Amino acid sequence: MDSGPPSDLAGTAGRLLAWYDRHRRRLPWRALPGERPDPYRVWLSEIMLQQTTVATVGPYFERFTARWPSVGALAAAPLDAVLAEWAGLGYYARARNLHACAQAVVERHGGAFPDQEAALLALPGVGAYTAAAVAAIAFDRPATPLDGNIERVVARLFAVAEPLPGAKPTLRRLAATLTPAERPGDYAQAAMDLGATVCLPGRPKCLLCPLEAGCRARALGIAERLPARAAKAERPTRRGVAFLAPRAAGRVVLRRRPDKGQLGGKAEVPSTDWRAEAWEAAEAAGQAPLAAVWDALPGLVRHTFTHFHLELAVWRADLPPEAAAPATARWAPVDALAGEALPTVMRKVLRHGLG
Ligand code: SF4
Repeated sequence: MDSGPPSDLAGTAGRLLAWYDRHRRRLPWRALPGERPDPYRVWLSEIMLQQTTVATVGPYFERFTARWPSVGALAAAPLDAVLAEWAGLGYYARARNLHACAQAVVERHGGAFPDQEAALLALPGVGAYTAAAVAAIAFDRPATPLDGNIERVVARLFAVAEPLPGAKPTLRRLAATLTPAERPGDYAQAAMDLGATVCLPGRPKCLLCPLEAGCRARALGIAERLPARAAKAERPTRRGVAFLAPRAAGRVVLRRRPDKGQLGGKAEVPSTDWRAEAWEAAEAAGQAPLAAVWDALPGLVRHTFTHFHLELAVWRADLPPEAAAPATARWAPVDALAGEALPTVMRKVLRHGLG
């Protein structure tokens, strides 16, 4: 593939800015032309938009800014109130970091967001993308945020054949060559808008694109195929045996998983290690949490995690009411299992074994 700069590299930013002045999206967190952006609103929107759509974020953004109109107000809010407003946006770690970041801005910077990428990067929950986006949009610094939309636009403009995610450094370097000294904040938003409304993933609307004349991928007829993505590695399968031990008095043995590793610290039906090889019966019995007569139930419980498939055989031992729980485990009442913070795979095990 013949990659290279767009044919009018020097004019690219100017064309995109002229297009932006006519076609910019109106978003609740965006300053109107001629207004100074509020760094608090820029930062809040960028955190909310991570892995979430503009349409979803809108009402959350309105509620947050109505209730906490400044970074100081957010910093002073109880964490629980912030988490409650965040409910539905997913990833509570981001809400915790949001609150921690607001407090850091107040404590370290007197309530004013720093205007340099490096200082922004040092704040909780602010990664390379967010630091660049806030520096550019809020402070008009010549920073180059690289989100999925901008990656796609740059991959196509330069016809970058190298697949993602390995191509990210290349795309970052090429994107930086386009960032203008004049209006870098508007330029960053223009590139985001072009990716979101014109240079679309499946079918780019090249006829509406202000960069069509110079776009390398368009000239080569390969725009739809870019950016290329590396084939996903097959997920391996791991196997284990779960030991379901209900006691006649309506209780079942649960224990806490080790803090490190998959489902670290979560409650589980005791199980063997999860590994690639199948478990021989005698070997699995050696990892049972208590001495009992174990019956292997028919079928398997299957669950898919991000990096592997899991297949669990379920062994069940019905224990008398006076049976003691193993030292590292506890009895959980069967009729209160709905209120237990159990991972989905463990709920599947309980359904499989208890019906
Ligand atoms: Fe994207 Fe087409 Fe514009 Fe190239 S010409 S940047 S592929 S919309």
